[in-house]
Amino acid sequence: MDVKNNVKNILIVDDDADMCDELKEALHQNNFAITLANTAAEAREELLKTEFDLAILDVYLPDSTGIELAKKIREDNSTTSILMITGYASLDSCLDAWDAGALKFIQKPLDPAKLKSAVNEALRIRDEEERRIRRERKLEKQGLTDFLTGLYNKRYFNDWLATEIRSAKRYGYSFSLAMADIDFFKSVNDVYGHISGDILLKSFAEFLKNHIRESDVLARYGGEEFLILLNRTNKNGSLAFAEHLRASVEANFFSARGKKLKLTVSIGVSSFPEDGLTAKNLMDASDWALDKAKIAGRNRVASAGGIAGQASERIGKDAPEPGADEMRGKLSDIVKRANKTVLESVRAFAREVDMRDHYYDGHLDEIAATAGMIGDKLSLSDREIDNIRIAAALRDLGKVSLPDHILDKRGKLTKSEEDLMKMHPLMGADIVNFIPRFKDIAPLILFHHEMFNGQGYCNGLKGKEIPVGARVVAVADAYHALISDRPYRKAYTREEAIHIVKKDSGKRFDPQVVGAMVETLRSEGSTDEKRAGN
Ligand code: GH3
Ligand code: MG
Ligand code: MG
Repeated sequence: MDVKNNVKNILIVDDDADMCDELKEALHQNNFAITLANTAAEAREELLKTEFDLAILDVYLPDSTGIELAKKIREDNSTTSILMITGYASLDSCLDAWDAGALKFIQKPLDPAKLKSAVNEALRIRDEEERRIRRERKLEKQGLTDFLTGLYNKRYFNDWLATEIRSAKRYGYSFSLAMADIDFFKSVNDVYGHISGDILLKSFAEFLKNHIRESDVLARYGGEEFLILLNRTNKNGSLAFAEHLRASVEANFFSARGKKLKLTVSIGVSSFPEDGLTAKNLMDASDWALDKAKIAGRNRVASAGGIAGQASERIGKDAPEPGADEMRGKLSDIVKRANKTVLESVRAFAREVDMRDHYYDGHLDEIAATAGMIGDKLSLSDREIDNIRIAAALRDLGKVSLPDHILDKRGKLTKSEEDLMKMHPLMGADIVNFIPRFKDIAPLILFHHEMFNGQGYCNGLKGKEIPVGARVVAVADAYHALISDRPYRKAYTREEAIHIVKKDSGKRFDPQVVGAMVETLRSEGSTDEKRAGN
């Protein structure tokens, strides 16, 4: 290995000279070349001189902030890894730092072992990133592939499609065009930042590559939109393929910067010859089908086939002037889509919190499902049940502001830690309260730790003073916490968990709600057993 190349340039920016020395001491290693800067201005000068592998930034600097500096590093398109150090991690600075592209927060006082492992991880990520960019630049030079994903680009795909149409006409075979667009990808960027977004797009592309045949052609057509030309595949075959792909995406975890995330995809499928005889008509037909899939709720496949007549009508003629009803319908669609986007974004935050709190992903959906079933059993209205499902998934959103050491703590919390922990319902409600769709959901988050006997927090409400939705969330939450592994204990079985919840009926929990849950779980359990027996 080239020794010279192996030297890692590390920039430490902190106005506290002792802290700089402490960091330098902790990172004393032969292949680390360390540069110190006490101000953002000094750091900028150093950044002009050297391409650093890693920058370790204090959040508070005399002339700026570490977050501003991190943004600057990212804007310069550098692959420099960034670690942030701070005396305390407040919610705002965490999110800002994450947005600015920082990998991790390191808390003061320094723990040398944690620091070293964070530094090594950051350097490893930077190495990977460099290798990837070198490989992709090489291909891009040839002008046929997309820089980020390494897939074929639009130009290549259009050429290929034109050739395919000529030969399909000549030899009389069919083929199909699947247009796949990741759902709500904008929220993914908004929540996890663009850098994670890029990494996800790359792993999504890789996933697609592994799910097509050698003879198919896969291209990145635009931002988060991919095209697959399914060689010699008719409508039925292409729909089966698209559905399989959709389900596989839904079942998969995509990784970005140490996080496992879920994505879903909508797919529009058109086939030659029935949906179009030219490249443009086929593309329009797939695009139209994709639009259908999105409007129908996303995470689904739609075909141009069933609606071929309408598709050609839409393409062929000018759309008529919209009447008031049509306009109302369109606006209502837009409102529904907007609400869904907001919900997805907030859910992405909540998933993040759940993962930090040592639940596996998927937990949110299960707890929401249980809460929804209880609501159903209690004969609540559809709207109330909807709100309960959302509140159940978002109940712990406020924990986003709690530091890891509290969430990770195995032993008993100190009084001040406990006080902080007890703020999470309030903080969660506060985060979503300003969004109109959450007007009736925020109270359910706020009161989900109230107890039926009045001994809970944050307000000490009692019995029916607690909104019914919050009473439902409390029970579903407790049950799912019991059947999950926690850092300090193994999961209980379903029966043990039911037993424990029942013991608290009338004390912590509303007996009617507990009864409803036990009933739904028992009937669900019996179908599980039946399924297992098959
Ligand atoms: P929909 O379900 O309707 O497709 O919602 P959406 O948010 O995925 O769709 P929209 O077309 O509104 O936004 C696409 C987003 O994809 C916009 C942008 O944030 C993101 N995106 C596009 N290209 C890239 C890219 O190269 N990197 C990253 N990180 N994000 C990208
Ligand atoms: Mg999309
Ligand atoms: Mg899009």
